[in-house]
Amino acid sequence: MKTIGIIGAGQMGAGIAHVSALAGYDVLLHDISEDAIKAGIGGIAANLERQVAKEKVTQADSAAAFARISAANALSDLGPCDMVIEAATENEEVKKKIFASLKPVLKSGAILATNTSSISITRLAAVTDRPEHFIGIHFMNPVPVMQLVEIVRGIATDEETFQTALGYTNRLEKQTTVSEDFPAFIVNRVLIPMINEAAYVLYEGVGDVEGIDKAMRLGANHPMGPLQLADFIGLDTCLAIMQVLHDGLADTKYRPCPLLVKYVEAGWLGRKTGKGFYDYSGEEPRPTR
Ligand code: NAD
Repeated sequence: MKTIGIIGAGQMGAGIAHVSALAGYDVLLHDISEDAIKAGIGGIAANLERQVAKEKVTQADSAAAFARISAANALSDLGPCDMVIEAATENEEVKKKIFASLKPVLKSGAILATNTSSISITRLAAVTDRPEHFIGIHFMNPVPVMQLVEIVRGIATDEETFQTALGYTNRLEKQTTVSEDFPAFIVNRVLIPMINEAAYVLYEGVGDVEGIDKAMRLGANHPMGPLQLADFIGLDTCLAIMQVLHDGLADTKYRPCPLLVKYVEAGWLGRKTGKGFYDYSGEEPRPTR
């Protein structure tokens, strides 16, 4: 594999582009919004600089990696890719439309991957022309920092595709776990209901935002409180994952917290919009409740 296409230049797509380019792949970065591509590439430049300042990456490697990343303003620009990783918004219809549109674009042996946090790999694969060459490669946020990648096979994924995905993540020097294709896989099946429960604890007035986060940082030794982490992930993504769990497992224990729903409806999506459980407009984050 030489060239990797990435669809969605948000926090995850940009991160995947960053680590892929550092590992020596040529990267084509696409988004429905040209502004998002520009912002994504700008963010990668800033993050590479930070790694150079911390002496984690040399100036030469950083410059070489940055030169390997190009903007792909149209989906049809992804024709030369050996693998395309989709990292667009966590919405099944959006993802299905992207995969359907890729059919006339991709070369025959190319692999298709999705970074979905929760949606069925088998269902997404079914709308493509190559379910056997389709796989889940689920990175964690922030991609350059977090070690784990979850690999998820759909029912039709073949062994060669699985081995290619493993070879790719090994080259990125990431650790992997293999999850079965059930709603939200391993990490988010455990993590997101905990975040949803923290939202319920806030909703019911058991604690306030700072109290809940402090309790879990100091009481459970979590490096970040659950509400702080939710803002980091994006409240829209957290809610979308709860909805996938609720629909896919039909168990009321996965009912999304009404307060989480309200925050998303208000457009308070966390750090990416400047406000979520905390307000990020000042020097220090301030709780919004
Ligand atoms: P984000 O909101 O930062 O970025 C999503 C990007 O997708 C946006 O730039 C948007 O313009 C783009 N997009 C939307 N529709 C598109 C289309 N039709 N074609 C091309 N681009 C389109 O979201 P994110 O946090 O980067 O999440 C992206 C994916 O990664 C989701 O599937 C999410 O579940 C998954 N994920 C997120 C996290 C996390 O912590 N945020 C962690 C692991 C996986």
